Amino acid sequence: MGGSRFPAAIPLEVEPLYTSLIATGQRDRMTQPTRLLEPDEPGPVRVLRPEGASDFLFTADHAGKLIPRRLRQLGVSDSELQRHIAWDIGIAGVTEHLSALLDATAVLQTYSRLVIDCNRHPTWPSAMPVVSEYTDVPGNVGLTDADRALRVDEIFTPYHDRTRALLDARQAAGRRTIVVFMHSFTPVFKGAARAMEVGILFADKTPLASIMLDLLRAEDGLTVGENEPYAITANSDYSAPTHGDARGLTHVEVEIRQDEIAEPAGQLAWAERFARLLRLADSRLKASAA
Ligand SMILES: [Zn+2]
Repeated sequence: MGGSRFPAAIPLEVEPLYTSLIATGQRDRMTQPTRLLEPDEPGPVRVLRPEGASDFLFTADHAGKLIPRRLRQLGVSDSELQRHIAWDIGIAGVTEHLSALLDATAVLQTYSRLVIDCNRHPTWPSAMPVVSEYTDVPGNVGLTDADRALRVDEIFTPYHDRTRALLDARQAAGRRTIVVFMHSFTPVFKGAARAMEVGILFADKTPLASIMLDLLRAEDGLTVGENEPYAITANSDYSAPTHGDARGLTHVEVEIRQDEIAEPAGQLAWAERFARLLRLADSRLKASAA
Protein backbone atom coordinates (compact mmCIF):
# COMPACT_ATOMS: atom_id res chain seq x y z
CA MET A 1 0.00 0.00 0.00
CA GLY A 2 1.38 3.41 -0.94
CA GLY A 3 1.07 6.66 1.00
CA SER A 4 -0.37 6.25 4.45
CA ARG A 5 -0.01 2.76 5.81
CA PHE A 6 -3.62 2.84 6.97
CA PRO A 7 -6.87 3.36 5.14
CA ALA A 8 -7.66 7.03 5.54
CA ALA A 9 -11.30 7.08 4.55
CA ILE A 10 -14.08 6.41 7.01
CA PRO A 11 -16.55 4.10 5.30
CA LEU A 12 -19.80 6.01 4.85
CA GLU A 13 -21.98 3.27 6.28
CA VAL A 14 -20.32 3.45 9.69
CA GLU A 15 -19.92 7.22 9.88
CA PRO A 16 -23.13 7.76 11.91
CA LEU A 17 -21.80 5.44 14.60
CA TYR A 18 -18.49 7.24 14.58
CA THR A 19 -20.33 10.52 14.94
CA SER A 20 -22.32 9.13 17.86
CA LEU A 21 -19.06 8.20 19.57
CA ILE A 22 -17.89 11.78 19.22
CA ALA A 23 -21.21 12.97 20.62
CA THR A 24 -20.89 10.72 23.69
CA GLY A 25 -17.32 11.74 24.31
CA GLN A 26 -15.97 8.25 23.71
CA ARG A 27 -13.95 9.41 20.76
CA ASP A 28 -11.95 11.76 23.00
CA ARG A 29 -11.31 8.95 25.43
CA MET A 30 -9.84 6.92 22.62
CA THR A 31 -7.56 9.54 21.10
CA GLN A 32 -6.29 11.52 24.07
CA PRO A 33 -4.66 9.02 26.42
CA THR A 34 -0.96 8.40 26.21
CA ARG A 35 -1.55 4.93 27.61
CA LEU A 36 -4.10 2.33 26.68
CA LEU A 37 -4.09 -0.05 29.65
CA GLU A 38 -4.64 1.30 33.12
CA PRO A 39 -2.42 -0.02 35.91
CA ASP A 40 -5.07 -2.33 37.36
CA GLU A 41 -5.89 -3.98 34.02
CA PRO A 42 -4.47 -7.40 33.07
CA GLY A 43 -1.31 -7.55 31.03
CA PRO A 44 -1.54 -8.60 27.37
CA VAL A 45 0.15 -11.97 27.78
CA ARG A 46 -0.18 -14.99 30.03
CA VAL A 47 2.65 -17.52 30.08
CA LEU A 48 1.96 -20.97 31.49
CA ARG A 49 4.86 -23.21 32.55
CA PRO A 50 7.69 -21.02 31.24
CA GLU A 51 10.08 -23.73 32.45
CA GLY A 52 8.02 -26.55 30.92
CA ALA A 53 10.06 -29.64 30.00
CA SER A 54 8.25 -30.42 26.73
CA ASP A 55 9.74 -29.77 23.31
CA PHE A 56 6.32 -28.38 22.37
CA LEU A 57 5.53 -24.72 22.88
CA PHE A 58 1.95 -23.53 22.35
CA THR A 59 0.67 -20.08 21.51
CA ALA A 60 -2.92 -18.79 21.34
CA ASP A 61 -3.18 -15.39 19.66
CA HIS A 62 -6.93 -15.14 20.15
CA ALA A 63 -7.33 -16.71 23.60
CA GLY A 64 -8.84 -13.65 25.31
CA LYS A 65 -11.77 -11.30 24.84
CA LEU A 66 -10.98 -8.44 27.19
CA ILE A 67 -11.28 -4.88 25.94
CA PRO A 68 -9.20 -2.15 27.56
CA ARG A 69 -11.48 0.00 29.71
CA ARG A 70 -10.54 3.16 27.84
CA LEU A 71 -11.95 1.71 24.61
CA ARG A 72 -15.49 1.43 26.02
CA GLN A 73 -16.19 -1.97 24.45
CA LEU A 74 -15.31 -0.43 21.05
CA GLY A 75 -19.00 0.46 20.83
CA VAL A 76 -19.88 -3.25 20.43
CA SER A 77 -22.69 -4.91 22.43
CA ASP A 78 -22.08 -7.42 25.22
CA SER A 79 -23.67 -10.22 23.19
CA GLU A 80 -21.51 -9.55 20.13
CA LEU A 81 -18.42 -9.58 22.35
CA GLN A 82 -19.20 -13.17 23.35
CA ARG A 83 -19.14 -14.30 19.69
CA HIS A 84 -16.27 -15.67 17.63
CA ILE A 85 -15.62 -12.22 16.16
CA ALA A 86 -14.12 -11.17 19.51
CA TRP A 87 -12.00 -14.28 20.28
CA ASP A 88 -11.30 -17.93 19.56
CA ILE A 89 -14.00 -19.52 21.71
CA GLY A 90 -12.71 -22.45 23.76
CA ILE A 91 -9.07 -22.32 22.71
CA ALA A 92 -7.77 -20.95 26.03
CA GLY A 93 -9.14 -24.01 27.85
CA VAL A 94 -7.72 -26.46 25.30
CA THR A 95 -4.31 -24.76 25.43
CA GLU A 96 -4.25 -24.66 29.25
CA HIS A 97 -4.98 -28.40 29.39
CA LEU A 98 -2.35 -29.16 26.75
CA SER A 99 0.22 -27.19 28.71
CA ALA A 100 -0.60 -29.23 31.81
CA LEU A 101 -0.80 -32.62 30.06
CA LEU A 102 2.54 -32.22 28.28
CA ASP A 103 4.34 -29.96 30.79
CA ALA A 104 4.68 -27.49 27.92
CA THR A 105 5.12 -23.74 27.86
CA ALA A 106 2.05 -21.90 26.56
CA VAL A 107 1.72 -18.22 25.63
CA LEU A 108 -1.81 -16.83 25.60
CA GLN A 109 -2.97 -13.41 24.52
CA THR A 110 -5.47 -11.70 26.82
CA TYR A 111 -7.27 -9.02 24.77
CA SER A 112 -9.89 -9.29 22.05
CA ARG A 113 -8.85 -9.63 18.43
CA LEU A 114 -11.18 -6.67 17.80
CA VAL A 115 -8.75 -4.43 19.74
CA ILE A 116 -5.78 -5.71 17.77
CA ASP A 117 -5.51 -9.03 15.97
CA CYS A 118 -2.19 -10.49 17.12
CA ASN A 119 -2.10 -12.82 14.11
CA ARG A 120 -2.01 -9.96 11.61
CA HIS A 121 0.72 -7.51 10.80
CA PRO A 122 -0.44 -4.32 12.55
CA THR A 123 -0.39 -2.38 9.29
CA TRP A 124 -2.89 -4.80 7.74
CA PRO A 125 -6.44 -3.31 7.68
CA SER A 126 -7.95 -6.40 9.35
CA ALA A 127 -5.63 -5.95 12.35
CA MET A 128 -8.15 -3.43 13.79
CA PRO A 129 -11.28 -4.21 11.78
CA VAL A 130 -14.07 -1.68 11.31
CA VAL A 131 -16.38 -4.59 10.44
CA SER A 132 -16.02 -8.20 11.59
CA GLU A 133 -18.20 -10.72 9.79
CA TYR A 134 -21.39 -8.58 9.76
CA THR A 135 -20.75 -6.59 12.93
CA ASP A 136 -19.70 -2.94 12.87
CA VAL A 137 -16.90 -2.00 15.25
CA PRO A 138 -17.45 1.74 15.76
CA GLY A 139 -14.47 2.08 18.09
CA ASN A 140 -12.15 1.08 15.25
CA VAL A 141 -13.42 3.70 12.83
CA GLY A 142 -11.20 6.66 12.08
CA LEU A 143 -8.30 5.58 14.27
CA THR A 144 -5.31 7.88 14.24
CA ASP A 145 -1.77 6.57 13.95
CA ALA A 146 -1.43 7.37 17.67
CA ASP A 147 -4.49 5.25 18.53
CA ARG A 148 -3.04 2.35 16.58
CA ALA A 149 0.40 2.79 18.07
CA LEU A 150 -0.99 2.43 21.63
CA ARG A 151 -2.55 -0.92 20.78
CA VAL A 152 0.60 -2.10 19.03
CA ASP A 153 2.90 -0.94 21.84
CA GLU A 154 0.82 -2.23 24.76
CA ILE A 155 -0.67 -5.45 23.37
CA PHE A 156 0.81 -6.72 20.10
CA THR A 157 4.48 -6.00 20.75
CA PRO A 158 4.74 -7.27 24.35
CA TYR A 159 2.82 -10.42 23.41
CA HIS A 160 5.09 -11.27 20.51
CA ASP A 161 8.23 -10.11 22.34
CA ARG A 162 7.44 -12.58 25.12
CA THR A 163 7.07 -15.43 22.64
CA ARG A 164 10.29 -14.35 20.93
CA ALA A 165 12.17 -14.20 24.24
CA LEU A 166 11.01 -17.69 25.22
CA LEU A 167 12.09 -19.06 21.84
CA ASP A 168 15.43 -17.20 22.04
CA ALA A 169 16.11 -18.66 25.48
CA ARG A 170 15.36 -22.18 24.31
CA GLN A 171 17.58 -21.71 21.28
CA ALA A 172 20.41 -20.37 23.47
CA ALA A 173 20.04 -23.42 25.70
CA GLY A 174 20.19 -25.71 22.68
CA ARG A 175 16.66 -26.98 23.27
CA ARG A 176 14.63 -28.65 20.56
CA THR A 177 11.36 -26.76 20.00
CA ILE A 178 8.18 -27.47 18.06
CA VAL A 179 5.72 -24.57 18.00
CA VAL A 180 1.98 -25.26 17.83
CA PHE A 181 -0.22 -22.27 17.02
CA MET A 182 -3.66 -22.87 18.55
CA HIS A 183 -6.86 -21.42 17.06
CA SER A 184 -10.57 -22.17 16.85
CA PHE A 185 -13.11 -21.39 14.13
CA THR A 186 -16.81 -20.72 14.03
CA PRO A 187 -19.09 -23.55 12.80
CA VAL A 188 -20.95 -21.11 10.53
CA PHE A 189 -19.30 -18.10 8.88
CA LYS A 190 -21.38 -15.68 6.82
CA GLY A 191 -24.08 -18.33 6.56
CA ALA A 192 -21.78 -21.11 5.34
CA ALA A 193 -21.58 -24.20 7.57
CA ARG A 194 -18.25 -25.93 8.00
CA ALA A 195 -18.26 -29.72 8.16
CA MET A 196 -14.72 -30.29 9.43
CA GLU A 197 -14.16 -30.48 13.19
CA VAL A 198 -10.45 -29.74 12.97
CA GLY A 199 -7.95 -28.31 10.53
CA ILE A 200 -4.18 -28.46 10.15
CA LEU A 201 -2.70 -25.35 8.53
CA PHE A 202 0.76 -24.80 7.10
CA ALA A 203 2.61 -22.70 4.54
CA ASP A 204 4.86 -25.60 3.53
CA LYS A 205 3.69 -29.15 4.03
CA THR A 206 6.29 -30.21 6.55
CA PRO A 207 6.68 -33.77 7.88
CA LEU A 208 4.93 -32.67 11.09
CA ALA A 209 1.91 -31.34 9.17
CA SER A 210 1.69 -34.58 7.15
CA ILE A 211 1.94 -36.75 10.26
CA MET A 212 -0.70 -34.75 12.12
CA LEU A 213 -3.07 -34.95 9.14
CA ASP A 214 -2.57 -38.74 8.99
CA LEU A 215 -3.13 -39.16 12.71
CA LEU A 216 -6.25 -37.01 12.82
CA ARG A 217 -7.74 -38.74 9.75
CA ALA A 218 -7.23 -42.07 11.52
CA GLU A 219 -9.40 -40.89 14.43
CA ASP A 220 -12.97 -42.20 14.43
CA GLY A 221 -15.57 -40.00 12.82
CA LEU A 222 -13.49 -36.87 12.28
CA THR A 223 -13.55 -34.69 9.19
CA VAL A 224 -10.13 -33.07 8.90
CA GLY A 225 -9.30 -29.89 6.99
CA GLU A 226 -5.97 -29.51 5.23
CA ASN A 227 -5.33 -25.78 5.04
CA GLU A 228 -9.05 -25.50 5.76
CA PRO A 229 -11.02 -23.58 6.93
CA TYR A 230 -8.12 -21.16 6.37
CA ALA A 231 -4.83 -21.21 4.53
CA ILE A 232 -1.77 -19.56 6.02
CA THR A 233 -0.49 -16.63 3.99
CA ALA A 234 2.25 -14.14 4.77
CA ASN A 235 -0.28 -11.34 4.24
CA SER A 236 -2.97 -12.61 6.56
CA ASP A 237 -0.94 -14.46 9.18
CA TYR A 238 1.75 -13.10 11.46
CA SER A 239 2.58 -15.69 14.11
CA ALA A 240 3.45 -18.80 12.09
CA PRO A 241 5.54 -16.90 9.51
CA THR A 242 7.34 -14.97 12.28
CA HIS A 243 7.91 -17.52 15.05
CA GLY A 244 7.89 -20.63 12.88
CA ASP A 245 9.04 -20.15 9.29
CA ALA A 246 11.42 -17.22 9.81
CA ARG A 247 13.18 -19.01 12.68
CA GLY A 248 13.33 -22.32 10.85
CA LEU A 249 11.42 -24.00 13.70
CA THR A 250 9.23 -27.03 13.15
CA HIS A 251 5.68 -25.84 13.65
CA VAL A 252 2.06 -26.36 12.75
CA GLU A 253 -1.15 -24.39 13.12
CA VAL A 254 -4.24 -26.04 14.57
CA GLU A 255 -7.88 -24.96 14.13
CA ILE A 256 -10.65 -26.62 16.16
CA ARG A 257 -14.34 -25.97 15.51
CA GLN A 258 -15.81 -23.93 18.33
CA ASP A 259 -18.91 -26.01 19.04
CA GLU A 260 -16.56 -28.90 19.92
CA ILE A 261 -14.77 -26.87 22.61
CA ALA A 262 -17.31 -24.34 23.86
CA GLU A 263 -17.72 -26.30 27.13
CA PRO A 264 -15.04 -27.49 29.60
CA ALA A 265 -15.60 -31.21 28.84
CA GLY A 266 -14.93 -30.67 25.14
CA GLN A 267 -11.86 -28.58 25.88
CA LEU A 268 -10.39 -31.38 27.99
CA ALA A 269 -11.31 -34.06 25.43
CA TRP A 270 -9.65 -32.18 22.57
CA ALA A 271 -6.59 -31.39 24.69
CA GLU A 272 -6.26 -35.08 25.56
CA ARG A 273 -6.60 -36.01 21.90
CA PHE A 274 -3.96 -33.49 20.82
CA ALA A 275 -1.62 -34.43 23.67
CA ARG A 276 -1.81 -38.07 22.54
CA LEU A 277 -1.43 -37.30 18.83
CA LEU A 278 1.35 -34.75 19.27
CA ARG A 279 3.34 -37.26 21.36
CA LEU A 280 2.87 -39.84 18.59
CA ALA A 281 3.81 -37.32 15.92
CA ASP A 282 6.91 -36.36 17.86
CA SER A 283 8.09 -39.94 18.16
CA ARG A 284 7.55 -40.45 14.42
CA LEU A 285 9.52 -37.28 13.69
CA LYS A 286 12.37 -38.45 15.88
CA ALA A 287 12.31 -41.93 14.31
CA SER A 288 12.47 -40.51 10.80
CA ALA A 289 15.38 -38.25 11.78
CA ALA A 290 17.35 -41.09 13.38
ZN1 LIG B 1 -7.48 -17.57 15.94
